[in-house]
Amino acid sequence: MLPGTREFESASRILRKLRDEGYDAFLAGGCVRDLLLGRVPEDYDVATSATPDVVLAMFPRTFAVGAHFGVVLVADEGEDGHHAPTEVATFRSDGIYSDGRHPDEVLYTTRAEEDVHRRDFTINGLLLDPLAVKGSNLRSAVLDYVGGLADLDAGVIRAIGRADRRFEEDQLRLLRAVRFAARFGFAIEESTHTAMRRLASRIHAVSRERVRDELTKMLTEGHARHAFELLDETNLLAQVLPEVARMKGVEQPPQFHPEGDVWVHTLLILEQLEAGCPLTLAWGALLHDVGKPATFRRAERIRFDGHVEVGMVIGAEICRRFRLSNEETRQILALIQHHMRFADAPRMKASTLKRFFRLEKFEEHLALHRMDCLGASGNLDNWEFVRERYEAIPVEDVHPRPLITGRDLIAAGYVPGARFKEMLQAVEDAQLEGVIATAEEALELVRKQF
Ligand code: ATP
Ligand code: MG
Repeated sequence: MLPGTREFESASRILRKLRDEGYDAFLAGGCVRDLLLGRVPEDYDVATSATPDVVLAMFPRTFAVGAHFGVVLVADEGEDGHHAPTEVATFRSDGIYSDGRHPDEVLYTTRAEEDVHRRDFTINGLLLDPLAVKGSNLRSAVLDYVGGLADLDAGVIRAIGRADRRFEEDQLRLLRAVRFAARFGFAIEESTHTAMRRLASRIHAVSRERVRDELTKMLTEGHARHAFELLDETNLLAQVLPEVARMKGVEQPPQFHPEGDVWVHTLLILEQLEAGCPLTLAWGALLHDVGKPATFRRAERIRFDGHVEVGMVIGAEICRRFRLSNEETRQILALIQHHMRFADAPRMKASTLKRFFRLEKFEEHLALHRMDCLGASGNLDNWEFVRERYEAIPVEDVHPRPLITGRDLIAAGYVPGARFKEMLQAVEDAQLEGVIATAEEALELVRKQF
Protein backbone atom coordinates (compact mmCIF):
# COMPACT_ATOMS: atom_id res chain seq x y z
CA MET A 1 0.00 0.00 0.00
CA LEU A 2 1.22 3.46 -0.82
CA PRO A 3 0.92 6.03 1.92
CA GLY A 4 -1.44 8.92 1.46
CA THR A 5 0.74 11.41 3.27
CA ARG A 6 1.32 14.88 1.89
CA GLU A 7 5.04 14.20 1.71
CA PHE A 8 4.43 11.20 -0.49
CA GLU A 9 1.87 13.01 -2.65
CA SER A 10 4.20 15.90 -3.13
CA ALA A 11 7.15 13.67 -4.11
CA SER A 12 4.87 11.89 -6.59
CA ARG A 13 3.75 15.19 -8.10
CA ILE A 14 7.35 16.28 -8.59
CA LEU A 15 8.17 12.94 -10.12
CA ARG A 16 5.25 13.11 -12.54
CA LYS A 17 6.29 16.56 -13.69
CA LEU A 18 9.85 15.38 -14.36
CA ARG A 19 8.45 12.48 -16.39
CA ASP A 20 6.14 14.77 -18.33
CA GLU A 21 9.15 16.84 -19.31
CA GLY A 22 10.84 13.73 -20.65
CA TYR A 23 13.20 12.91 -17.77
CA ASP A 24 13.61 9.70 -15.90
CA ALA A 25 12.67 9.88 -12.21
CA PHE A 26 12.17 7.48 -9.28
CA LEU A 27 11.84 7.44 -5.56
CA ALA A 28 15.21 6.22 -4.32
CA GLY A 29 17.13 5.03 -1.29
CA GLY A 30 15.87 4.91 2.27
CA CYS A 31 12.26 5.81 1.49
CA VAL A 32 11.85 2.85 -0.89
CA ARG A 33 13.41 0.53 1.65
CA ASP A 34 11.10 1.82 4.37
CA LEU A 35 7.97 1.53 2.20
CA LEU A 36 8.83 -2.09 1.40
CA LEU A 37 9.39 -2.79 5.09
CA GLY A 38 6.00 -1.29 5.86
CA ARG A 39 7.57 1.61 7.75
CA VAL A 40 6.68 5.25 7.35
CA PRO A 41 9.62 6.98 5.63
CA GLU A 42 11.00 10.10 7.31
CA ASP A 43 11.29 11.81 3.95
CA TYR A 44 11.15 11.02 0.26
CA ASP A 45 14.12 11.33 -2.05
CA VAL A 46 13.67 11.59 -5.80
CA ALA A 47 16.45 10.57 -8.15
CA THR A 48 16.30 11.88 -11.70
CA SER A 49 18.17 12.17 -14.99
CA ALA A 50 17.46 15.92 -15.01
CA THR A 51 20.49 18.01 -14.04
CA PRO A 52 20.23 20.53 -11.16
CA ASP A 53 19.90 23.54 -13.47
CA VAL A 54 16.95 21.86 -15.18
CA VAL A 55 15.33 21.03 -11.85
CA LEU A 56 15.89 24.58 -10.62
CA ALA A 57 14.20 25.98 -13.73
CA MET A 58 11.31 23.52 -13.71
CA PHE A 59 9.89 24.19 -10.23
CA PRO A 60 8.92 27.56 -8.81
CA ARG A 61 10.13 27.04 -5.27
CA THR A 62 13.55 25.45 -5.10
CA PHE A 63 16.62 25.68 -2.90
CA ALA A 64 19.97 24.87 -4.45
CA VAL A 65 21.41 23.60 -1.16
CA GLY A 66 23.62 20.91 -2.60
CA ALA A 67 23.45 21.70 -6.29
CA HIS A 68 27.20 21.23 -6.64
CA PHE A 69 26.77 17.57 -5.81
CA GLY A 70 23.49 17.28 -7.62
CA VAL A 71 20.88 17.89 -4.94
CA VAL A 72 18.08 20.43 -5.16
CA LEU A 73 15.31 20.86 -2.60
CA VAL A 74 11.91 21.30 -4.18
CA ALA A 75 9.10 22.75 -2.09
CA ASP A 76 5.60 21.46 -2.49
CA GLU A 77 3.56 22.73 -5.40
CA GLY A 78 0.26 21.54 -4.00
CA GLU A 79 -2.46 23.54 -2.31
CA ASP A 80 -1.36 22.70 1.21
CA GLY A 81 2.32 23.58 1.24
CA HIS A 82 4.12 23.46 4.57
CA HIS A 83 6.06 20.33 5.03
CA ALA A 84 9.68 19.42 4.42
CA PRO A 85 10.68 19.96 0.79
CA THR A 86 11.53 16.93 -1.33
CA GLU A 87 15.16 16.24 -2.13
CA VAL A 88 15.66 15.84 -5.86
CA ALA A 89 19.05 14.39 -6.76
CA THR A 90 20.49 14.02 -10.22
CA PHE A 91 21.64 10.50 -11.12
CA ARG A 92 25.36 10.43 -10.60
CA SER A 93 28.28 8.10 -10.59
CA ASP A 94 30.76 9.30 -8.02
CA GLY A 95 34.37 9.69 -9.08
CA ILE A 96 37.43 8.80 -7.02
CA TYR A 97 37.34 9.34 -3.24
CA SER A 98 40.76 10.44 -2.09
CA ASP A 99 39.78 11.75 1.36
CA GLY A 100 37.73 8.78 2.49
CA ARG A 101 34.58 10.86 2.71
CA HIS A 102 33.79 12.85 -0.43
CA PRO A 103 34.08 12.00 -4.09
CA ASP A 104 36.65 14.22 -5.80
CA GLU A 105 34.16 14.96 -8.54
CA VAL A 106 30.51 14.27 -9.17
CA LEU A 107 29.74 12.85 -12.59
CA TYR A 108 26.15 13.18 -13.69
CA THR A 109 24.65 10.38 -15.68
CA THR A 110 21.32 9.72 -17.34
CA ARG A 111 21.34 6.08 -16.30
CA ALA A 112 19.53 5.17 -13.10
CA GLU A 113 21.54 1.98 -12.79
CA GLU A 114 24.80 3.89 -12.43
CA ASP A 115 23.27 6.01 -9.69
CA VAL A 116 22.34 2.89 -7.76
CA HIS A 117 25.90 1.63 -7.88
CA ARG A 118 27.26 4.63 -5.97
CA ARG A 119 24.86 3.95 -3.08
CA ASP A 120 26.05 2.07 0.00
CA PHE A 121 24.01 -1.06 0.71
CA THR A 122 21.73 -3.16 -1.47
CA ILE A 123 18.66 -2.41 0.64
CA ASN A 124 19.40 1.31 0.10
CA GLY A 125 19.83 0.82 -3.65
CA LEU A 126 16.22 0.25 -4.66
CA LEU A 127 14.25 2.52 -6.97
CA LEU A 128 10.49 2.79 -7.00
CA ASP A 129 8.16 4.20 -9.61
CA PRO A 130 5.11 5.20 -7.59
CA LEU A 131 3.19 5.91 -10.80
CA ALA A 132 3.53 2.25 -11.80
CA VAL A 133 2.24 0.74 -8.57
CA LYS A 134 -0.71 -1.55 -9.23
CA GLY A 135 -3.09 -1.95 -6.33
CA SER A 136 -1.20 -2.89 -3.22
CA ASN A 137 1.69 -4.52 -5.03
CA LEU A 138 4.67 -2.24 -4.44
CA ARG A 139 7.24 -4.77 -5.54
CA SER A 140 6.05 -4.82 -9.14
CA ALA A 141 7.03 -1.15 -9.39
CA VAL A 142 10.53 -1.60 -7.93
CA LEU A 143 13.68 -1.40 -10.01
CA ASP A 144 16.27 -3.60 -8.40
CA TYR A 145 19.73 -3.62 -10.00
CA VAL A 146 21.60 -4.94 -6.97
CA GLY A 147 19.56 -7.72 -5.38
CA GLY A 148 18.17 -5.38 -2.75
CA LEU A 149 14.75 -7.03 -2.62
CA ALA A 150 16.23 -10.44 -1.82
CA ASP A 151 18.42 -8.92 0.90
CA LEU A 152 15.47 -7.05 2.32
CA ASP A 153 13.52 -10.32 2.48
CA ALA A 154 16.43 -12.23 3.99
CA GLY A 155 17.35 -9.46 6.43
CA VAL A 156 20.85 -8.81 5.16
CA ILE A 157 23.07 -5.73 5.02
CA ARG A 158 25.35 -6.15 2.00
CA ALA A 159 27.60 -3.57 0.41
CA ILE A 160 26.86 -2.82 -3.23
CA GLY A 161 29.83 -4.02 -5.27
CA ARG A 162 33.13 -4.96 -3.63
CA ALA A 163 32.73 -4.35 0.07
CA ASP A 164 36.33 -3.43 0.83
CA ARG A 165 36.44 -0.92 -1.98
CA ARG A 166 33.18 0.67 -0.87
CA PHE A 167 34.39 1.10 2.72
CA GLU A 168 37.75 2.38 1.50
CA GLU A 169 35.91 5.06 -0.50
CA ASP A 170 33.84 6.30 2.40
CA GLN A 171 34.46 5.18 5.96
CA LEU A 172 31.22 6.58 7.31
CA ARG A 173 29.64 3.52 5.69
CA LEU A 174 31.28 1.38 8.40
CA LEU A 175 29.00 2.97 10.98
CA ARG A 176 26.01 3.15 8.66
CA ALA A 177 26.22 -0.63 8.18
CA VAL A 178 26.07 -1.16 11.93
CA ARG A 179 23.25 1.32 12.35
CA PHE A 180 21.04 -0.23 9.67
CA ALA A 181 21.76 -3.78 10.86
CA ALA A 182 20.79 -2.82 14.41
CA ARG A 183 17.76 -0.78 13.42
CA PHE A 184 16.23 -3.51 11.28
CA GLY A 185 17.59 -6.51 13.19
CA PHE A 186 19.48 -7.57 10.06
CA ALA A 187 22.65 -9.62 9.76
CA ILE A 188 25.74 -8.19 8.08
CA GLU A 189 26.67 -10.33 5.08
CA GLU A 190 29.98 -12.14 5.46
CA SER A 191 32.23 -10.37 2.96
CA THR A 192 30.80 -7.03 4.10
CA HIS A 193 31.51 -8.00 7.72
CA THR A 194 35.03 -9.14 6.88
CA ALA A 195 35.77 -5.87 5.10
CA MET A 196 34.44 -3.91 8.06
CA ARG A 197 36.70 -5.72 10.50
CA ARG A 198 39.69 -5.25 8.26
CA LEU A 199 39.05 -1.55 7.74
CA ALA A 200 37.75 -0.60 11.19
CA SER A 201 40.80 1.49 12.05
CA ARG A 202 40.11 3.73 9.04
CA ILE A 203 37.08 5.14 10.83
CA HIS A 204 39.31 7.96 12.10
CA ALA A 205 39.09 9.58 8.66
CA VAL A 206 35.50 10.49 9.54
CA SER A 207 34.94 13.69 11.50
CA ARG A 208 34.17 13.20 15.16
CA GLU A 209 30.87 15.02 14.80
CA ARG A 210 29.74 12.53 12.17
CA VAL A 211 30.88 9.61 14.30
CA ARG A 212 29.04 11.12 17.27
CA ASP A 213 25.86 11.55 15.27
CA GLU A 214 25.96 7.93 14.11
CA LEU A 215 26.59 6.69 17.66
CA THR A 216 23.80 8.86 19.02
CA LYS A 217 21.39 7.45 16.46
CA MET A 218 22.46 3.92 17.41
CA LEU A 219 21.87 4.73 21.07
CA THR A 220 18.46 6.35 20.62
CA GLU A 221 16.72 4.20 18.01
CA GLY A 222 15.73 1.45 20.42
CA HIS A 223 18.32 -1.14 19.39
CA ALA A 224 21.38 0.11 21.20
CA ARG A 225 22.45 -3.28 22.51
CA HIS A 226 22.51 -4.87 19.09
CA ALA A 227 24.35 -1.85 17.69
CA PHE A 228 27.06 -2.03 20.36
CA GLU A 229 27.46 -5.76 19.94
CA LEU A 230 28.03 -5.18 16.24
CA LEU A 231 30.47 -2.34 16.93
CA ASP A 232 32.37 -4.77 19.14
CA GLU A 233 32.28 -7.64 16.63
CA THR A 234 33.58 -5.44 13.84
CA ASN A 235 36.37 -3.94 16.00
CA LEU A 236 34.88 -0.49 15.54
CA LEU A 237 34.20 -0.14 19.27
CA ALA A 238 37.89 -0.26 20.17
CA GLN A 239 38.48 2.47 17.58
CA VAL A 240 35.73 4.93 18.43
CA LEU A 241 35.21 4.20 22.14
CA PRO A 242 38.24 2.35 23.50
CA GLU A 243 37.15 3.35 27.02
CA VAL A 244 33.98 1.31 26.57
CA ALA A 245 35.79 -1.58 24.88
CA ARG A 246 37.93 -1.80 28.04
CA MET A 247 34.86 -2.85 30.02
CA LYS A 248 35.07 -6.29 28.49
CA GLY A 249 36.31 -8.92 30.90
CA VAL A 250 36.31 -6.57 33.89
CA GLU A 251 34.85 -8.82 36.58
CA GLN A 252 32.39 -7.55 39.18
CA PRO A 253 31.46 -8.86 42.64
CA PRO A 254 28.83 -11.55 41.95
CA GLN A 255 26.73 -10.63 45.01
CA PHE A 256 25.92 -7.25 43.45
CA HIS A 257 26.34 -8.17 39.82
CA PRO A 258 25.16 -11.71 39.14
CA GLU A 259 24.88 -10.78 35.44
CA GLY A 260 28.63 -10.76 34.80
CA ASP A 261 31.34 -8.28 33.87
CA VAL A 262 31.06 -4.53 33.31
CA TRP A 263 30.52 -4.95 29.56
CA VAL A 264 27.67 -7.42 30.05
CA HIS A 265 26.11 -5.08 32.59
CA THR A 266 26.41 -2.15 30.17
CA LEU A 267 24.83 -4.17 27.35
CA LEU A 268 21.91 -5.06 29.63
CA ILE A 269 21.41 -1.36 30.19
CA LEU A 270 21.70 -0.42 26.53
CA GLU A 271 19.05 -3.04 25.85
CA GLN A 272 16.61 -0.99 27.91
CA LEU A 273 17.12 2.31 26.10
CA GLU A 274 13.89 3.09 24.32
CA ALA A 275 13.51 4.53 20.85
CA GLY A 276 13.40 8.30 21.11
CA CYS A 277 15.06 8.45 24.54
CA PRO A 278 17.02 11.63 25.33
CA LEU A 279 20.56 11.78 23.98
CA THR A 280 21.94 12.59 27.43
CA LEU A 281 20.27 9.61 29.08
CA ALA A 282 21.59 7.35 26.33
CA TRP A 283 25.18 8.55 26.60
CA GLY A 284 24.95 8.63 30.39
CA ALA A 285 23.75 5.04 30.41
CA LEU A 286 26.60 3.99 28.13
CA LEU A 287 29.20 5.76 30.26
CA HIS A 288 27.90 5.48 33.84
CA ASP A 289 30.43 2.76 34.72
CA VAL A 290 33.21 3.87 32.38
CA GLY A 291 35.44 4.46 35.41
CA LYS A 292 35.31 0.81 36.51
CA PRO A 293 38.05 -0.73 34.34
CA ALA A 294 40.62 1.77 35.63
CA THR A 295 39.63 1.35 39.30
CA PHE A 296 39.22 -2.43 39.45
CA ARG A 297 40.83 -3.84 42.59
CA ARG A 298 40.65 -7.14 44.46
CA ALA A 299 40.34 -6.55 48.22
CA GLU A 300 38.07 -8.58 50.53
CA ARG A 301 35.91 -8.48 47.43
CA ILE A 302 36.24 -6.87 44.02
CA ARG A 303 36.09 -3.10 44.54
CA PHE A 304 35.88 -0.09 42.25
CA ASP A 305 36.66 2.65 44.75
CA GLY A 306 36.55 6.05 43.10
CA HIS A 307 35.00 4.77 39.89
CA VAL A 308 32.49 7.62 39.87
CA GLU A 309 35.17 10.32 39.98
CA VAL A 310 37.41 8.53 37.47
CA GLY A 311 34.35 7.89 35.30
CA MET A 312 33.58 11.60 35.26
CA VAL A 313 37.10 12.40 34.07
CA ILE A 314 36.92 9.79 31.31
CA GLY A 315 33.37 10.82 30.46
CA ALA A 316 34.42 14.45 30.15
CA GLU A 317 37.20 13.47 27.78
CA ILE A 318 34.76 11.47 25.62
CA CYS A 319 32.24 14.32 25.54
CA ARG A 320 34.98 16.72 24.55
CA ARG A 321 36.29 14.38 21.87
CA PHE A 322 32.86 14.06 20.32
CA ARG A 323 32.14 17.77 20.63
CA LEU A 324 29.01 17.29 22.65
CA SER A 325 27.58 20.62 23.76
CA ASN A 326 28.38 22.02 27.21
CA GLU A 327 24.80 21.47 28.30
CA GLU A 328 24.79 17.85 27.10
CA THR A 329 28.17 17.23 28.70
CA ARG A 330 27.01 18.65 32.02
CA GLN A 331 24.01 16.33 32.12
CA ILE A 332 25.95 13.24 31.01
CA LEU A 333 28.57 13.88 33.71
CA ALA A 334 25.83 14.47 36.29
CA LEU A 335 24.33 11.08 35.42
CA ILE A 336 27.71 9.46 36.04
CA GLN A 337 28.31 11.50 39.18
CA HIS A 338 25.07 10.68 40.96
CA HIS A 339 24.34 7.13 39.84
CA MET A 340 25.62 5.56 43.08
CA ARG A 341 23.71 7.93 45.37
CA PHE A 342 20.41 6.13 44.96
CA ALA A 343 21.65 3.38 47.25
CA ASP A 344 21.85 5.93 50.09
CA ALA A 345 18.49 7.52 49.41
CA PRO A 346 16.50 5.64 52.10
CA ARG A 347 18.92 6.92 54.74
CA MET A 348 19.14 10.49 53.47
CA LYS A 349 17.89 13.35 55.61
CA ALA A 350 14.83 15.01 54.12
CA SER A 351 16.91 18.05 53.19
CA THR A 352 19.52 15.92 51.40
CA LEU A 353 16.85 14.01 49.52
CA LYS A 354 15.14 17.21 48.43
CA ARG A 355 18.43 18.66 47.24
CA PHE A 356 19.00 15.39 45.33
CA PHE A 357 15.64 15.95 43.64
CA ARG A 358 16.77 19.40 42.57
CA LEU A 359 19.18 17.89 40.05
CA GLU A 360 18.38 19.08 36.57
CA LYS A 361 16.29 16.53 34.64
CA PHE A 362 16.00 14.29 37.68
CA GLU A 363 13.76 11.96 35.63
CA GLU A 364 16.84 10.93 33.67
CA HIS A 365 18.65 10.03 36.89
CA LEU A 366 15.66 7.97 37.93
CA ALA A 367 15.46 6.26 34.54
CA LEU A 368 19.17 5.40 34.63
CA HIS A 369 18.89 3.98 38.14
CA ARG A 370 15.98 1.79 37.08
CA MET A 371 17.97 0.41 34.16
CA ASP A 372 21.00 -0.02 36.43
CA CYS A 373 18.96 -2.17 38.86
CA LEU A 374 17.30 -4.21 36.14
CA GLY A 375 20.68 -4.74 34.51
CA ALA A 376 22.07 -6.18 37.75
CA SER A 377 20.16 -7.69 40.69
CA GLY A 378 16.76 -6.92 39.20
CA ASN A 379 15.65 -5.57 42.57
CA LEU A 380 13.67 -2.37 42.13
CA ASP A 381 12.84 -1.67 45.81
CA ASN A 382 15.25 1.21 46.01
CA TRP A 383 14.15 2.73 42.74
CA GLU A 384 10.50 2.42 43.86
CA PHE A 385 11.34 4.19 47.10
CA VAL A 386 12.99 7.14 45.38
CA ARG A 387 10.35 7.40 42.70
CA GLU A 388 7.52 7.40 45.24
CA ARG A 389 9.17 10.09 47.29
CA TYR A 390 9.99 12.12 44.20
CA GLU A 391 6.39 11.99 43.03
CA ALA A 392 4.94 12.56 46.49
CA ILE A 393 6.91 15.67 47.38
CA PRO A 394 5.36 18.78 45.79
CA VAL A 395 7.65 20.97 43.68
CA GLU A 396 7.22 23.89 46.12
CA ASP A 397 8.63 21.69 48.89
CA VAL A 398 11.68 20.84 46.82
CA HIS A 399 12.17 24.46 45.74
CA PRO A 400 10.56 26.44 48.59
CA ARG A 401 10.75 30.22 48.67
CA PRO A 402 13.66 31.18 50.95
CA LEU A 403 12.38 32.22 54.40
CA ILE A 404 15.04 34.92 54.70
CA THR A 405 17.76 36.47 52.55
CA GLY A 406 21.04 38.25 53.22
CA ARG A 407 19.10 41.50 53.44
CA ASP A 408 17.08 40.17 56.39
CA LEU A 409 20.32 39.20 58.13
CA ILE A 410 21.69 42.73 57.66
CA ALA A 411 18.43 44.17 58.96
CA ALA A 412 18.81 41.92 61.99
CA GLY A 413 22.21 43.48 62.68
CA TYR A 414 24.61 40.94 61.18
CA VAL A 415 27.65 42.19 59.28
CA PRO A 416 27.83 40.77 55.73
CA GLY A 417 30.56 38.16 55.34
CA ALA A 418 31.47 34.59 54.60
CA ARG A 419 29.24 33.31 57.39
CA PHE A 420 26.09 34.53 55.62
CA LYS A 421 26.23 31.54 53.32
CA GLU A 422 26.43 29.12 56.27
CA MET A 423 23.58 30.88 58.03
CA LEU A 424 21.30 30.78 55.01
CA GLN A 425 22.26 27.17 54.37
CA ALA A 426 21.35 26.22 57.95
CA VAL A 427 18.04 28.01 57.56
CA GLU A 428 17.30 26.24 54.30
CA ASP A 429 18.25 22.87 55.84
CA ALA A 430 15.77 23.39 58.66
CA GLN A 431 13.15 24.57 56.20
CA LEU A 432 13.62 21.50 53.99
CA GLU A 433 13.49 19.29 57.10
CA GLY A 434 10.17 20.92 57.94
CA VAL A 435 11.50 22.17 61.30
CA ILE A 436 10.82 25.85 60.60
CA ALA A 437 8.35 27.56 58.33
CA THR A 438 8.50 31.35 58.98
CA ALA A 439 10.99 34.19 58.73
CA GLU A 440 10.79 34.72 62.52
CA GLU A 441 11.69 31.09 63.17
CA ALA A 442 14.53 31.40 60.69
CA LEU A 443 16.01 34.44 62.45
CA GLU A 444 15.64 32.75 65.81
CA LEU A 445 17.53 29.73 64.49
CA VAL A 446 20.34 32.01 63.29
CA ARG A 447 20.47 33.74 66.69
CA LYS A 448 20.73 30.40 68.47
CA GLN A 449 23.30 28.75 66.19
CA PHE A 450 25.57 31.65 65.24
P1 ATP B 1 17.73 7.06 7.33
O1 ATP B 1 16.43 6.40 7.57
O2 ATP B 1 18.68 6.90 8.45
O3 ATP B 1 17.61 8.46 6.82
P2 ATP B 1 18.57 6.55 4.63
O4 ATP B 1 18.85 5.28 3.89
O5 ATP B 1 17.46 7.40 4.13
O6 ATP B 1 18.38 6.17 6.16
P3 ATP B 1 20.23 8.84 4.22
O7 ATP B 1 21.49 9.19 4.93
O8 ATP B 1 19.04 9.69 4.37
O9 ATP B 1 19.92 7.34 4.65
O10 ATP B 1 20.63 8.69 2.70
C1 ATP B 1 19.68 8.44 1.64
C2 ATP B 1 20.27 7.46 0.64
O11 ATP B 1 21.47 7.97 0.08
C3 ATP B 1 20.65 6.11 1.21
O12 ATP B 1 19.55 5.24 1.27
C4 ATP B 1 21.70 5.65 0.26
O13 ATP B 1 21.15 5.13 -0.93
C5 ATP B 1 22.43 6.94 -0.10
N1 ATP B 1 23.56 7.20 0.81
C6 ATP B 1 23.55 7.96 1.93
N2 ATP B 1 24.76 8.02 2.51
C7 ATP B 1 25.57 7.29 1.72
C8 ATP B 1 26.96 6.97 1.75
N3 ATP B 1 27.74 7.42 2.76
N4 ATP B 1 27.46 6.20 0.77
C9 ATP B 1 26.68 5.78 -0.25
N5 ATP B 1 25.37 6.02 -0.33
C10 ATP B 1 24.81 6.77 0.63
MG1 MG C 1 16.99 9.38 4.89
